[in-house]
Amino acid sequence: MRLPLVAGNWKMNKRIAEGRALARAVAEGVARLGGARGRAEVVLGPPYLALPAVAEAAAGSGLGVAGQDCSPEKDGAFTGEVSAAMLKDAGATHVILGHSERRELLGEADALVARKASAALAGGLLPILCLGEALPLRQAGKTLDHVGRQIRESILAAFPSPPEGLIVAYEPIWAIGTGVTATPAQAQEVHAFIRSRLGEIYGVDWAAKTRILYGGSVKPDNAAELFAQPDIDGGLIGGASLKSEDFLAIVGAALTAR
Ligand code: PEP
Repeated sequence: MRLPLVAGNWKMNKRIAEGRALARAVAEGVARLGGARGRAEVVLGPPYLALPAVAEAAAGSGLGVAGQDCSPEKDGAFTGEVSAAMLKDAGATHVILGHSERRELLGEADALVARKASAALAGGLLPILCLGEALPLRQAGKTLDHVGRQIRESILAAFPSPPEGLIVAYEPIWAIGTGVTATPAQAQEVHAFIRSRLGEIYGVDWAAKTRILYGGSVKPDNAAELFAQPDIDGGLIGGASLKSEDFLAIVGAALTAR
Protein backbone atom coordinates (compact mmCIF):
# COMPACT_ATOMS: atom_id res chain seq x y z
CA MET A 1 0.00 0.00 0.00
CA ARG A 2 3.01 2.35 0.37
CA LEU A 3 4.67 3.47 -2.85
CA PRO A 4 8.44 3.07 -2.43
CA LEU A 5 10.37 6.32 -2.59
CA VAL A 6 14.02 6.80 -3.52
CA ALA A 7 15.35 10.31 -2.95
CA GLY A 8 18.84 11.55 -3.78
CA ASN A 9 20.53 14.06 -1.52
CA TRP A 10 23.22 15.66 -3.64
CA LYS A 11 24.41 17.82 -0.73
CA MET A 12 26.84 20.57 -1.84
CA ASN A 13 27.71 18.85 -5.13
CA LYS A 14 26.97 19.55 -8.80
CA ARG A 15 27.17 22.80 -10.69
CA ILE A 16 24.10 23.81 -12.69
CA ALA A 17 25.10 22.10 -15.94
CA GLU A 18 26.18 18.95 -14.10
CA GLY A 19 22.89 18.84 -12.22
CA ARG A 20 20.93 19.22 -15.43
CA ALA A 21 22.91 16.39 -17.04
CA LEU A 22 22.44 14.10 -14.02
CA ALA A 23 18.70 14.80 -13.93
CA ARG A 24 18.42 13.97 -17.64
CA ALA A 25 20.39 10.76 -17.19
CA VAL A 26 18.18 9.69 -14.26
CA ALA A 27 14.99 10.56 -16.15
CA GLU A 28 16.13 8.54 -19.16
CA GLY A 29 17.25 5.65 -16.97
CA VAL A 30 13.97 5.53 -15.07
CA ALA A 31 12.13 5.46 -18.43
CA ARG A 32 14.33 2.51 -19.46
CA LEU A 33 13.32 0.74 -16.23
CA GLY A 34 9.74 0.98 -17.47
CA GLY A 35 8.88 4.27 -15.76
CA ALA A 36 8.22 4.91 -12.10
CA ARG A 37 4.64 6.20 -12.18
CA GLY A 38 2.44 4.08 -9.95
CA ARG A 39 5.43 1.86 -9.02
CA ALA A 40 7.77 4.15 -7.09
CA GLU A 41 8.50 7.78 -6.45
CA VAL A 42 11.95 9.06 -7.47
CA VAL A 43 13.17 12.40 -6.16
CA LEU A 44 16.35 14.36 -6.92
CA GLY A 45 17.80 16.67 -4.26
CA PRO A 46 20.09 19.26 -5.88
CA PRO A 47 21.60 22.32 -4.20
CA TYR A 48 19.41 25.43 -4.44
CA LEU A 49 21.18 27.01 -7.41
CA ALA A 50 20.83 23.92 -9.62
CA LEU A 51 17.23 23.27 -8.58
CA PRO A 52 15.43 25.20 -11.34
CA ALA A 53 17.57 23.56 -14.05
CA VAL A 54 17.02 20.13 -12.50
CA ALA A 55 13.26 20.74 -12.28
CA GLU A 56 13.22 21.80 -15.92
CA ALA A 57 15.21 18.72 -16.99
CA ALA A 58 12.90 16.48 -14.94
CA ALA A 59 9.68 18.08 -16.20
CA GLY A 60 7.28 15.54 -17.67
CA SER A 61 9.35 12.59 -16.43
CA GLY A 62 7.43 12.10 -13.19
CA LEU A 63 10.58 12.69 -11.11
CA GLY A 64 10.22 14.86 -8.02
CA VAL A 65 12.70 17.51 -6.93
CA ALA A 66 13.66 18.24 -3.34
CA GLY A 67 15.25 21.23 -1.69
CA GLN A 68 17.79 20.31 1.00
CA ASP A 69 16.39 22.70 3.60
CA CYS A 70 13.93 25.57 3.88
CA SER A 71 13.29 28.48 6.16
CA PRO A 72 10.64 28.20 8.87
CA GLU A 73 9.52 31.68 7.80
CA LYS A 74 7.31 32.66 4.88
CA ASP A 75 9.28 35.68 3.70
CA GLY A 76 10.92 38.80 5.04
CA ALA A 77 14.20 39.94 6.53
CA PHE A 78 16.00 36.57 6.83
CA THR A 79 19.27 37.01 4.96
CA GLY A 80 20.46 33.88 3.18
CA GLU A 81 17.26 31.94 3.77
CA VAL A 82 14.98 30.32 1.18
CA SER A 83 11.30 29.76 1.92
CA ALA A 84 9.16 26.74 1.06
CA ALA A 85 7.12 28.88 -1.35
CA MET A 86 10.33 29.94 -3.15
CA LEU A 87 11.39 26.32 -3.52
CA LYS A 88 8.00 25.38 -4.86
CA ASP A 89 8.11 28.31 -7.26
CA ALA A 90 11.49 27.02 -8.53
CA GLY A 91 10.01 23.57 -9.21
CA ALA A 92 10.50 21.66 -5.94
CA THR A 93 7.98 19.07 -4.80
CA HIS A 94 9.74 17.89 -1.63
CA VAL A 95 12.19 19.23 0.94
CA ILE A 96 14.73 17.35 3.07
CA LEU A 97 14.61 18.64 6.66
CA GLY A 98 16.57 17.96 9.82
CA HIS A 99 19.43 16.22 8.04
CA SER A 100 22.08 15.22 10.58
CA GLU A 101 24.70 17.33 8.80
CA ARG A 102 22.55 20.40 9.48
CA ARG A 103 21.80 19.25 13.02
CA GLU A 104 25.48 18.52 13.80
CA LEU A 105 27.37 21.11 11.74
CA LEU A 106 24.90 23.99 11.97
CA GLY A 107 23.32 23.28 15.34
CA GLU A 108 19.75 22.77 14.11
CA ALA A 109 17.62 21.64 17.02
CA ASP A 110 14.40 19.65 16.92
CA ALA A 111 12.30 22.73 17.64
CA LEU A 112 13.63 24.45 14.52
CA VAL A 113 13.17 21.30 12.43
CA ALA A 114 9.56 21.18 13.66
CA ARG A 115 8.94 24.78 12.55
CA LYS A 116 10.49 24.07 9.16
CA ALA A 117 8.35 20.96 8.69
CA SER A 118 5.26 22.94 9.45
CA ALA A 119 6.30 25.72 7.02
CA ALA A 120 7.09 23.15 4.31
CA LEU A 121 3.69 21.47 4.41
CA ALA A 122 1.94 24.84 4.62
CA GLY A 123 3.96 25.93 1.57
CA GLY A 124 2.95 22.91 -0.49
CA LEU A 125 6.11 20.80 -0.18
CA LEU A 126 6.35 17.25 1.15
CA PRO A 127 8.90 17.17 3.97
CA ILE A 128 11.38 14.30 4.16
CA LEU A 129 12.15 14.63 7.85
CA CYS A 130 15.37 12.99 9.03
CA LEU A 131 15.86 11.29 12.39
CA GLY A 132 18.71 9.17 13.67
CA GLU A 133 21.23 8.52 16.40
CA ALA A 134 24.98 9.07 16.67
CA LEU A 135 27.25 6.11 17.39
CA PRO A 136 27.68 6.70 21.16
CA LEU A 137 23.89 6.61 21.61
CA ARG A 138 23.64 3.33 19.69
CA GLN A 139 26.53 1.87 21.68
CA ALA A 140 24.80 2.92 24.90
CA GLY A 141 21.59 1.18 23.82
CA LYS A 142 19.74 4.50 23.60
CA THR A 143 18.75 4.48 19.91
CA LEU A 144 15.02 4.08 20.44
CA ASP A 145 14.92 6.61 23.30
CA HIS A 146 16.68 9.14 21.10
CA VAL A 147 14.54 8.53 18.02
CA GLY A 148 11.40 8.59 20.21
CA ARG A 149 12.42 11.99 21.54
CA GLN A 150 13.07 13.27 18.01
CA ILE A 151 9.60 12.08 16.96
CA ARG A 152 8.05 14.03 19.85
CA GLU A 153 10.11 17.17 19.41
CA SER A 154 10.45 17.48 15.65
CA ILE A 155 7.18 15.89 14.45
CA LEU A 156 4.56 15.92 17.21
CA ALA A 157 5.59 19.45 18.26
CA ALA A 158 4.86 20.65 14.71
CA PHE A 159 1.73 18.65 14.01
CA PRO A 160 -0.90 18.06 16.68
CA SER A 161 -2.99 16.30 14.04
CA PRO A 162 -1.80 13.82 11.39
CA PRO A 163 0.47 15.59 8.86
CA GLU A 164 -0.76 14.45 5.45
CA GLY A 165 2.19 13.80 3.16
CA LEU A 166 4.95 13.78 5.76
CA ILE A 167 7.78 11.36 4.90
CA VAL A 168 10.21 10.21 7.59
CA ALA A 169 13.82 9.19 6.95
CA TYR A 170 15.69 7.11 9.53
CA GLU A 171 19.35 7.93 9.06
CA PRO A 172 21.73 6.55 11.69
CA ILE A 173 24.49 9.15 11.77
CA TRP A 174 27.21 6.50 12.05
CA ALA A 175 26.12 5.13 8.67
CA ILE A 176 26.04 8.40 6.73
CA GLY A 177 28.89 8.77 4.27
CA THR A 178 30.93 6.19 6.17
CA GLY A 179 30.41 3.13 4.01
CA VAL A 180 29.04 1.37 7.12
CA THR A 181 25.41 0.47 6.57
CA ALA A 182 22.95 -0.55 9.25
CA THR A 183 22.14 -4.21 8.79
CA PRO A 184 18.63 -4.81 7.43
CA ALA A 185 17.66 -6.12 10.89
CA GLN A 186 19.06 -3.05 12.70
CA ALA A 187 17.26 -0.70 10.31
CA GLN A 188 14.01 -2.69 10.40
CA GLU A 189 13.97 -2.59 14.22
CA VAL A 190 14.08 1.22 14.25
CA HIS A 191 11.64 1.58 11.34
CA ALA A 192 9.13 -0.65 13.10
CA PHE A 193 9.58 1.41 16.27
CA ILE A 194 9.03 4.68 14.36
CA ARG A 195 5.88 3.33 12.70
CA SER A 196 4.50 2.09 15.98
CA ARG A 197 5.18 5.41 17.78
CA LEU A 198 3.59 7.33 14.89
CA GLY A 199 0.64 4.95 15.12
CA GLU A 200 0.23 5.67 18.82
CA ILE A 201 0.31 9.39 18.13
CA TYR A 202 -1.63 9.75 14.86
CA GLY A 203 -3.46 6.44 14.54
CA VAL A 204 -2.49 3.17 12.93
CA ASP A 205 -4.12 3.97 9.59
CA TRP A 206 -2.03 7.09 9.16
CA ALA A 207 1.13 5.28 10.26
CA ALA A 208 0.42 2.38 7.91
CA LYS A 209 0.33 4.66 4.88
CA THR A 210 3.31 6.85 5.85
CA ARG A 211 6.62 6.21 4.11
CA ILE A 212 9.71 5.69 6.29
CA LEU A 213 12.94 5.77 4.28
CA TYR A 214 16.31 4.40 5.33
CA GLY A 215 19.44 6.47 4.73
CA GLY A 216 23.07 5.68 5.44
CA SER A 217 25.50 4.27 2.86
CA VAL A 218 22.79 2.71 0.69
CA LYS A 219 24.54 1.36 -2.42
CA PRO A 220 23.52 -0.75 -5.42
CA ASP A 221 24.72 -3.89 -3.66
CA ASN A 222 22.84 -3.47 -0.37
CA ALA A 223 19.67 -1.64 -1.45
CA ALA A 224 17.56 -4.70 -2.27
CA GLU A 225 17.91 -6.38 1.11
CA LEU A 226 17.22 -3.14 2.96
CA PHE A 227 14.16 -2.33 0.84
CA ALA A 228 12.82 -5.86 1.30
CA GLN A 229 12.25 -5.18 5.01
CA PRO A 230 8.57 -4.73 5.82
CA ASP A 231 8.87 -1.23 7.30
CA ILE A 232 11.53 0.18 4.94
CA ASP A 233 9.79 2.06 2.16
CA GLY A 234 12.80 3.16 0.13
CA GLY A 235 15.87 5.23 0.76
CA LEU A 236 17.45 8.64 1.14
CA ILE A 237 20.66 8.31 -0.82
CA GLY A 238 23.72 10.54 -0.47
CA GLY A 239 26.96 9.51 -2.20
CA ALA A 240 25.36 6.96 -4.52
CA SER A 241 22.90 9.55 -5.85
CA LEU A 242 25.72 11.46 -7.56
CA LYS A 243 26.25 8.85 -10.28
CA SER A 244 23.26 8.03 -12.46
CA GLU A 245 24.12 4.36 -12.82
CA ASP A 246 24.39 3.81 -9.05
CA PHE A 247 21.24 5.78 -8.32
CA LEU A 248 19.33 3.95 -11.04
CA ALA A 249 20.45 0.59 -9.69
CA ILE A 250 19.01 1.62 -6.31
CA VAL A 251 15.77 2.78 -7.98
CA GLY A 252 15.68 -0.61 -9.72
CA ALA A 253 15.99 -2.33 -6.32
CA ALA A 254 13.06 -0.29 -4.99
CA LEU A 255 10.93 -1.24 -8.00
CA THR A 256 11.42 -4.93 -7.36
CA ALA A 257 12.01 -5.18 -3.61
CA ARG A 258 8.52 -6.12 -2.41
C1 PEP B 1 22.58 11.25 3.44
O1 PEP B 1 23.39 12.15 3.54
O2 PEP B 1 21.36 11.48 3.58
C2 PEP B 1 23.09 9.91 3.19
C3 PEP B 1 22.31 8.90 3.43
O3 PEP B 1 24.38 9.83 2.72
P1 PEP B 1 25.16 8.49 2.24
O4 PEP B 1 24.20 7.71 1.38
O5 PEP B 1 26.33 9.00 1.47
O6 PEP B 1 25.52 7.75 3.48
